[in-house]
Amino acid sequence: MKTLRLILGDQLNAQHSWFQEVRPEVVYVLMEVRQETDYVRHHVQKVVAFFAAMRAFAERLRHQGHQVVYLTLDDPRNQQTLPENLKALLHEHQASRLEWMLPDEWRVDQQLQAFAASLELETAGVDSEHFFEPREALGTLFRGKKTYLMETFYRKMRQQHQVLVEGGKPVGGKWNFDQENRKRYDGAVPLPPVPHFHTDVSDLVRLLTDHGVTTVGSLAAGDLRWPVTREQGLQALEHFVQERLPFFGTYQDALTEEGPFLFHSLLSFALNVKLLSPREVVERAIQEWKQRPEAISLAQLEGFVRQILGWREYMRGVYWAEMPGYRSQNFLEHDRPLPEWFWTGETQMRCLRQAVTQSLEHAYAHHIQRLMVTGNFALLAGVDPEAVDAWYLGIYVDALEWVELPNTRGMSQYADGGQVATKPYVASANYLNRMGDHCVQCAYDPKQKTGPRACPFNALYWEFFVRHRERLQGNHRIGMTYRTWDKMAPEAQQQLLEQASWIREHLEVL
Ligand code: FAD
Repeated sequence: MKTLRLILGDQLNAQHSWFQEVRPEVVYVLMEVRQETDYVRHHVQKVVAFFAAMRAFAERLRHQGHQVVYLTLDDPRNQQTLPENLKALLHEHQASRLEWMLPDEWRVDQQLQAFAASLELETAGVDSEHFFEPREALGTLFRGKKTYLMETFYRKMRQQHQVLVEGGKPVGGKWNFDQENRKRYDGAVPLPPVPHFHTDVSDLVRLLTDHGVTTVGSLAAGDLRWPVTREQGLQALEHFVQERLPFFGTYQDALTEEGPFLFHSLLSFALNVKLLSPREVVERAIQEWKQRPEAISLAQLEGFVRQILGWREYMRGVYWAEMPGYRSQNFLEHDRPLPEWFWTGETQMRCLRQAVTQSLEHAYAHHIQRLMVTGNFALLAGVDPEAVDAWYLGIYVDALEWVELPNTRGMSQYADGGQVATKPYVASANYLNRMGDHCVQCAYDPKQKTGPRACPFNALYWEFFVRHRERLQGNHRIGMTYRTWDKMAPEAQQQLLEQASWIREHLEVL
């Protein structure tokens, strides 16, 4: 009797125990389905990167001797949803058992559970063997907690997994090196090259066009930069630890026109589709730090480990503890449409122009662009979190709901009322000017608060706090902002509010 084992597009974990022996009764199933290409408008690079990675993974399994069924988007047998295809394949293979790796997304998890319940055969969901913490363990940690600070979680993870810990104490005597990190990029260290894997995906682009799959963004000459095999993922990791880890923490929060990638790892896609495991990424970074302590300070390493062992696992914990309700949270009751230029980059605000244009070009923006440029603007302008989510979920190559949603609704849009972020991540032009070089050539002046050349972030910043005073003033981390506002002359306050009101009515033409 046959067993069908479903492998989703983000479960390409070659190290999984499933694949450690070839079993003649097991058939692995992968499928390209409209259900996944159409649930949001994705960046073209995202869809083809998933398909290219899935195809390469299927080939890898076949090469190892496993039996594989791969349904391409245009396969005549393909009914374009997981349940319908599985139903047909179970029948075709006379299978008596269906297994799947636990999905990371609630939507797919629900769908598979409902499908399994409708079957009269054995079914089982198994762990994806990817994260530091299995999903059940996360449930115990997070459920029932109103707030659970990332820092608390991160230290617990460090202890539990013995990462940069000696005798129960953090290596170097501190858990957190943020103070030494987060500098403006001044060009003193030249930006290193980043890998470009040159996978020819023109056939896949044609496939999407022929089948009417609507996408956003561009892909020059069908030449994909992102790693789509485990070997490429490992090369990307190697490149990062050699070239960019030595300055990762220092420039982690910098914004610059010099280049879109700075010293970031660009590993999120390889991690999220599980070509790489978070454990091996963390271990490799630590190993490199041990080998080159003169080149890589502990602050750089800790800054990186915090992102993977801390933020990434933490966001997943929030997601699974709070779904499905999290998806409709809108604490600040924001309801404006997303400006059209989020899809074109056509705005005179230079930081936004760069972040959006680069996202359309590369399906990538680094964290501070996502949080403090596009996210900051959407929050200040009062954009409906639903529209903000759809944008982030579509445009980035690494976007999967389990990680996108808590980052967007929670951290960036404060739509969860402060479960993830202890205060709204908003900033005026002062911050953007301090951390980046966009303002130098911008049509707007970061120093002006009112008038036609004033940077829109300034008036919007103050009006945001005034508009939400009732909801926010009890937060002790924001007290200073309200005290500053209250000390301002009434005429200055009035001018700022009028300026912000004009801006909010004219978001499309900024
Ligand atoms: P690096 O800066 O090199 O960081 C290393 C790794 O740490 C990343 O690859 C990622 O796996 C992890 N990481 C860093 N920050 C976070 C974080 N806040 N949450 C989870 N993991 C983190 N990340 C996604 O993977 N998918 C998303 O859909 C996504 N959406 C986001 C939406 C918003 C509004 C914001 C503010 C952040 C979002 N992030 C998302 C987190 C983060 O911005 C990206 O992981 C990062 O920019 C990816 O680039 P990188 O690999 O070069 O990361």
